[in-house]
Amino acid sequence: MKKQIDIDKARQTSKAKSVFKEHSFEEDLSHHFHYTLGRDEVSSSHYYLFQALAYTVKDRLVARCRHTLQQRQDSNTKQVAYLSLEFLMGRALNNAVLNLDLSDEVAHALRHYGVELEDLVQTERDAGLGNGGLGRLAACFLDSCATMALPVTGYGIRYEYGMFNQSVNNGYQVEHPDNWLRKGHPWEVAAPEQVQRVKFYGHVTLQKDHLGREHRVWQETQDVLAIPYDVPVPGYKNDTVNTLRLWKSEATDEFNLAEFNAGGYSEAVATKNLAEQITMVLYPNDSSESGKELRLKQQYFLVSATLQDVLSHWVSEHGDNFSQFAEQQVFQLNDTHPSIAIPELMRLLIDEHKLGWEQAWQITSQSMAYTNHTLLPEALEKWSVALVGRLLPRILEIIYEINARFLTQVSYLWPANVDKQRELSLIEEGDSPMIRMAYLAIVGSFSVNGVAELHSSLLTGQLFKSFYQLWPNKFNNKTNGVSPRRWLSHCNPELATLITGKIADQWVLDFAQINQIKPFIKDKEFTNQWARIKFDNKQTLSAEVKAHCGVEFDPNMMFDIQVKRIHEYKRQLLNVLHLIHLYERIRHNEVDNLTPRCVLFGGKAAPGYAMAKLVIKLINNVANVINHDVTANPYLRVAFYPNYNVSAMEVICPAADLSEQISTAGKEASGTGNMKFMMNGALTIGTLDGANIEIFDAVGEGNYFVFGAKADEVASIRANYNPSRIIEESPALSRVMSMLESGHFNLFEPGIFDPIINAIKDPNDPWLTAYDFDSYVDAQHQAGLAYQNQQDWVSKSILNTAASGHFSSDRTIAEYNQDIWQVRPQNPTPKTDV
Ligand SMILES: *Cc1c(COP(=O)(O)O)cnc(C)c1O
Repeated sequence: MKKQIDIDKARQTSKAKSVFKEHSFEEDLSHHFHYTLGRDEVSSSHYYLFQALAYTVKDRLVARCRHTLQQRQDSNTKQVAYLSLEFLMGRALNNAVLNLDLSDEVAHALRHYGVELEDLVQTERDAGLGNGGLGRLAACFLDSCATMALPVTGYGIRYEYGMFNQSVNNGYQVEHPDNWLRKGHPWEVAAPEQVQRVKFYGHVTLQKDHLGREHRVWQETQDVLAIPYDVPVPGYKNDTVNTLRLWKSEATDEFNLAEFNAGGYSEAVATKNLAEQITMVLYPNDSSESGKELRLKQQYFLVSATLQDVLSHWVSEHGDNFSQFAEQQVFQLNDTHPSIAIPELMRLLIDEHKLGWEQAWQITSQSMAYTNHTLLPEALEKWSVALVGRLLPRILEIIYEINARFLTQVSYLWPANVDKQRELSLIEEGDSPMIRMAYLAIVGSFSVNGVAELHSSLLTGQLFKSFYQLWPNKFNNKTNGVSPRRWLSHCNPELATLITGKIADQWVLDFAQINQIKPFIKDKEFTNQWARIKFDNKQTLSAEVKAHCGVEFDPNMMFDIQVKRIHEYKRQLLNVLHLIHLYERIRHNEVDNLTPRCVLFGGKAAPGYAMAKLVIKLINNVANVINHDVTANPYLRVAFYPNYNVSAMEVICPAADLSEQISTAGKEASGTGNMKFMMNGALTIGTLDGANIEIFDAVGEGNYFVFGAKADEVASIRANYNPSRIIEESPALSRVMSMLESGHFNLFEPGIFDPIINAIKDPNDPWLTAYDFDSYVDAQHQAGLAYQNQQDWVSKSILNTAASGHFSSDRTIAEYNQDIWQVRPQNPTPKTDV
């Protein structure tokens, strides 16, 4: 029986291969270059060649994408829609070439133009439709789903402007709009025939149909069109190409016409702009909520367009029979951002498809699954009842009804308990009542997951404790992961080749096998190669740092790196205090056992986050003083890498010796940067927070530099926190604070760092920077000493990569599928075919 299946699969695969018999790659490239783009000069810019190459690769992606879709329709299989306001995809060309195994064809075809693939890869702009970890997670998940041939479609917004570009001027962050579509986006395929219509504003009335039944009707709405743009998502050498469907908002014609007929030509055009505003720009806040009306419009726009899209496919297959819908469809909500999907699905089922409340609720609450990404109070979304009532009046009615029925349930478990009702209500009472979106997401979903062991246990033990008591079986953990294709094979090809030379290439698809490199820490040849590759990667990064920061890095020194969004909870400030500490040691000639380091920072601050922006300025001022002091130069160099993004990380993480993961314990839900560094053989210095704990457990003491307060200690430390006394009692911290307070780093800008100094000394400092300082300095010292024994260090580096098997997003997605989705892989790659 088993064999039969395998033969069928193999037959499908070989059939698939014949389906994709294409013209020669060379001919297609030439055609796109000369005709699609109309170029005839070989000397014309690399960008046209990149475009021609992208179109040539896209042809192959589109063919496979159509085939993947057809297979799915034929088999009528259960599907997942992954809803996310963010997809941080980065560049696509290299990924597509490697996943479709086109390297040889591409190299051959490009020879004619005298260009290397690598040169063209650099000209592609990042698709930066996300802020940081949450958006990049969505991108890694799509990669894993396609590679595992799972029927999962990503749904997001086609922002005209993605994450802003960052430059640094006089040490300050400057934001520049990311007009990433200006030169066109060669990977997308518009599908205007699958347009959807999304309603806003208007009001609700009660109407009777011809049978005398009452219906709520949402009318006199201002509608906006949603046009889908499909981006292909190739699996790794398996001929599966999944889809990321991104929606663009456009004005309806009728709406324009109404204004037009009234003679208001200009007003009609203005209306068009209003509609198109919805998908104009990504909100650049990571881990905090803006509360802006336009943001709510974006959320509802994505959700409504997506659900209508899925329902229209359902209806075309099954008519208005929804009895099997929840068995055939899952919606995974990436944080609360798309959680308005819950009342929207209710509305569509009840108002548009005429289901009763009970059946609609059964379907909704059995098809929605919610992933929580943070415990930070400032990131927990709440929308004012007044705003939702004005923008989405029918949705507000449905939320009220969900809440009323939910509170009845609460009263069964906690009878006559008004406090419980108030605590758990979807509506927070007050002068301006607010809808608690996380609560709505929990009530309306069959699965609620956190993103690392610690985070999930804090959800059930603290933030959502009462919900956990109500529904213990809804809650589960899915520790995040990252794609080993992008974050090892593609970004560190030399290391990947070295690994494959020893353990063959199955690790790319079955990343648990990476632990097979462990015995080779005793292989002199292997460890030498490992060290040489790290050195080469450090040289490559040094050239980038020189070009972008004007700072000279030396690959013989330890590369100590912290790149991630700039946020107080991530404590870039703690890292800066350590630099000032090292600088003081150098100035006082306390240089015994001081390991020379190059310290790199990178990351964007939300444009409205003053404290985070000030930390960027502090990093740059401290770097400037240290880099211009010739006595410091042999020991310490510091740079801030502008415009940190996916492409930057692809150069940075292969070159790291030491990965900084130093958040206040209990604040970082998971982290994924930590995993990319580990895969590439960096050692971590970190707190016991998020997935760091699992990294620490996997790699073992001695291969990880742990420090700081633990999550379960933080509350009692805060209770009587006295940073001034901690400073007094720590000689190292006193000296650092004196230096900072002396104005040494801001001689011509007096007082600018006072807010930072005050924050460190504030007894209410939520981030406990002073508390963790001494223990951080000690761990840094241990890391420095360890680096001095290069042989040992290389072993530890190999052991880190070897222990990173758990942190593949393939493992994460396998768990999502096993516990939540339960969809079947289609046409999986036969293992022998890798
Ligand atoms: C991985 C990644 C992140 C997430 O990093 P954390 O250290 O987990 O916060 C953010 N931005 C980019 C560009 C990334 O590649």
